[in-house]
Amino acid sequence: MSGSPPAWLKAGQRHLWRPYTQMQTAPPPLPAVSTHGTRIRLADGRELVDGIASWWTACHGYNHPHITAALERQARAMPHVMLGGLAHEPAVTLARRLAALLPGDLDHVFFSDSGSVAVEVALKMALQFWINAGRPERRRFVAFRDAYHGDTMGAMSVCDPDEGMHHLFHGHLPEQIIVDLPRSPAALADFEALLAGRRDEIAGVIIEPLVQGAGGMKFHDAETLAAVRRAAAAHDVLFIADEVFTGFGRTRHLFACQAADATPDILCIGKALTGGAVGLAATVATRRVYEAFLSEDPEKALMHGPTYMGNPLACAAANASLDLFETEPRVDQAAAMEAVLADGLEPCRGLPGVVDVRAKGAIGVVQLAEMRQLDWLRTRFVEEGVWLRPFGDIVYMTPALVASEDDLATLTGAVVGVLTEWADL
Ligand SMILES: *Cc1c(COP(=O)(O)O)cnc(C)c1O
Repeated sequence: MSGSPPAWLKAGQRHLWRPYTQMQTAPPPLPAVSTHGTRIRLADGRELVDGIASWWTACHGYNHPHITAALERQARAMPHVMLGGLAHEPAVTLARRLAALLPGDLDHVFFSDSGSVAVEVALKMALQFWINAGRPERRRFVAFRDAYHGDTMGAMSVCDPDEGMHHLFHGHLPEQIIVDLPRSPAALADFEALLAGRRDEIAGVIIEPLVQGAGGMKFHDAETLAAVRRAAAAHDVLFIADEVFTGFGRTRHLFACQAADATPDILCIGKALTGGAVGLAATVATRRVYEAFLSEDPEKALMHGPTYMGNPLACAAANASLDLFETEPRVDQAAAMEAVLADGLEPCRGLPGVVDVRAKGAIGVVQLAEMRQLDWLRTRFVEEGVWLRPFGDIVYMTPALVASEDDLATLTGAVVGVLTEWADL
């Protein structure tokens, strides 16, 4: 560590309650003053190579000039206007473009401001789909162990109940049906039997396709995803894909559900939707789901409407981000990154305390037998000039999809070096 903290940090830091942080014992936060490309600049002038793209959002790197220009134009014209009774070009165009980009007839886009809220809206949409169909008893969700779907109450209820951050709230959440991902024929038969036996109480199945993110970066193959999708269809249970993490190229598919032709009934996106510039999320429904809300009866409408829904600044940034997906080879870049991350992290495999090394698309993971010396690890990475946030039992990276070979070598080199020291502690 170098330099003394800036005055604004000393004056205000005890008023800032930070995420997932034991405020009594946590080391102070690092003062960030600017970003560019894959770099975060600190107040003392040091620059860190960002290995996690600010919680997986900044897929084009920071401050991409095309997104910045769109934000500046939109800020001058109309930073915000409500969506009740009004419409504006950035939201309408974004909805049209998302509908064109997403598979199947996922044509109806409901905007919100965060991934958790997009999941809440998806759950509410599925419940009301069945209420509108005269089947209000279909109100439980099937979700998977190691899942993470967000921090709000409904989203917490479909997260892994034991791992993760939410086990303290057990008795306060709706009770859902949490099962292992069916990775074998026998497990799939059990899963089918569960849906067959309890379909009259089940509204939907929710899954993070291909990669369970915040639950530990656990991968499953396209066949498992396809099998879950087929089982849901066979028992007429709504299939909800939470692509808040996996969407926009991260898994080397533009959307992970496309790897298995597993078009969901409802899909959630967020995180990289604006290229990391502004918070925005969306819940997208197929025509069948949407049409279940059409009626002469006002009570059958979807009763939801976040105040900043479809914020024009955020939608302008998202449209600019989609331009970049059209004009630059982002998905190919994610695909090419897989081998680079796998090769770069491979030396970790033999280290004491390391149980797995894996990569999928632009996600690289070193899994530990158990996490220890977490603060030490985080500090050592900063000393090595990289920004990585190990959690649970993993050290992982999800760089910007534009990260250069040099950036990736710096990141994987730091992980190998620091974990080599760590193994001897
Ligand atoms: C991050 C995440 C969420 C929650 O998104 P927020 O914007 O943090 O509310 C939901 N689902 C998945 C899969 C995520 O990775």
